[in-house]
Amino acid sequence: MSIRPLVDKKTKIIATISDFRCDVELIRQLFENGMNIVRMNTAHLTPEGMDKIINNVRAVSDEIGILIDTKGPEVRTTAVSLEDKQAKIDIAKGDVIRICGNPDGLTTAECICVNYTHFVDDVNPGTHVLIDDGEIDLLVTDKTSEYLVCEAQNDSRLGSRKGVNVPGVRINLPSVTERDKQNILFAIDRKIDFIAHSFVRSKQDVKDVTDILKRNDSHIRVIAKIENQEGIDNIDGIIEAADGVMVARGDLGIEVPQEKIPGIQRILIRKCVVAKKPVIVATQMLQSMINNPRPTRAEVTDIANAIFYRTDALMLSGETAQGRYPVEAVRTMAKIAAESEKTKLKDNDIRIPYNFEDNDIASFLAKQAVESIEALGIKALITDSHTGKTARYLAAYRGDKPVLAMCYNEPVIRHLSISYGVIPFYQERKENEDKRHYFLQALRTLLDNGYLHLEDKVAYLSGGGKRGTGATFLEINTIENIFADKSGVTQLS
Ligand code: PGA
Ligand code: MN
Repeated sequence: MSIRPLVDKKTKIIATISDFRCDVELIRQLFENGMNIVRMNTAHLTPEGMDKIINNVRAVSDEIGILIDTKGPEVRTTAVSLEDKQAKIDIAKGDVIRICGNPDGLTTAECICVNYTHFVDDVNPGTHVLIDDGEIDLLVTDKTSEYLVCEAQNDSRLGSRKGVNVPGVRINLPSVTERDKQNILFAIDRKIDFIAHSFVRSKQDVKDVTDILKRNDSHIRVIAKIENQEGIDNIDGIIEAADGVMVARGDLGIEVPQEKIPGIQRILIRKCVVAKKPVIVATQMLQSMINNPRPTRAEVTDIANAIFYRTDALMLSGETAQGRYPVEAVRTMAKIAAESEKTKLKDNDIRIPYNFEDNDIASFLAKQAVESIEALGIKALITDSHTGKTARYLAAYRGDKPVLAMCYNEPVIRHLSISYGVIPFYQERKENEDKRHYFLQALRTLLDNGYLHLEDKVAYLSGGGKRGTGATFLEINTIENIFADKSGVTQLS
């Protein structure tokens, strides 16, 4: 079973890792300190770089989920240097700089190149072009057919391949670019666990990715990154089509007025919890820890609030990809998470309406199972997972005891690495082994690993009948009593 993290928390942590700092020792330390998923940002990576990260992650543990992004209709600046990944250009307030659409050009202090050829056609004088999460503000003063003329509105430094936003202007790029397609095929080939699709504007954008997955018989989970107004406007269809959502606050905070972010974050989390799909809060969660060993009080509170809103997972970007304190950032986040989980108020749990017409037995039972934690003193919820669905249902009710998910399909372990409070573990299922026997074997593993004790009362949610029927029964009993009843079970080895 998994290495127990140094800090016991239910909120999952995603850490972005770059190929120039991804040694096995670092990944091991991040894992031990509470990282559940490694994110590879394809804006900065080649297939060779990604392979290096994947191999090192797998060398540490098979349980760490791996997530890669597409870039979607995202505009980025080109590199400022091909040799030095850390190189930066100084920009001073009042500087006149051109912008041109040239994916193959290098960005210089005179001319910023962007990866979208028709950028100049879509943008007109009077608009602000914002670069690197809005750090650099360029006002377009004039344009030719070749380039935009801009005036820098502030002092700043520009690195390689930074995001470009033009609030209020629709960029006419397709949802899945050619490069994205290559990365999706790469993800399928390398059996990566999650694809986070950038700038999802509608259900169709999600389907553009899932169609490719289906054609290739892949079960990769698709996370919709919500980063502009269109994505917010179409959120219900997007949640229906996707396997989860990321509140991508970096671009969102530029594309919509930033004061709207907290409200949007709360609504997106609520909708995902009700839909029983995982949700991630991302970007600038511990921004100051890129340079400092301690976070600001505001960052501590932001993390706590995301948990009080009931997020599944939190994401670190620059903090772990290139910051000075990657391990400290994960450890800090894990500690804040553990404390926030303890201090959140039950009254603020998100009520998931039950629809009787759906005859959704699994939802009904999942709710009872989580309620039994307090009513009956349950120590753990246990479920067997063919696809992970029942475990996600249990997670949605945000109980304060873990969901122990027995998995016999290895990828499902990693698919559950994103869900709140779920501890997935591999339990081999032998051919023709009856379910009861399988459950008892798993209980043995849990006892041997010290996760549970004989006198503990557990709630076991499982299904009978045809495969794919979902959960159909809930058993609540002490482990001792479960072992005492051997009726109908082949003898334990
Ligand atoms: P990015 O996505 O880091 O790929 O831009 C996250 C965000 O925009 O917040
Ligand atoms: Mn983004």
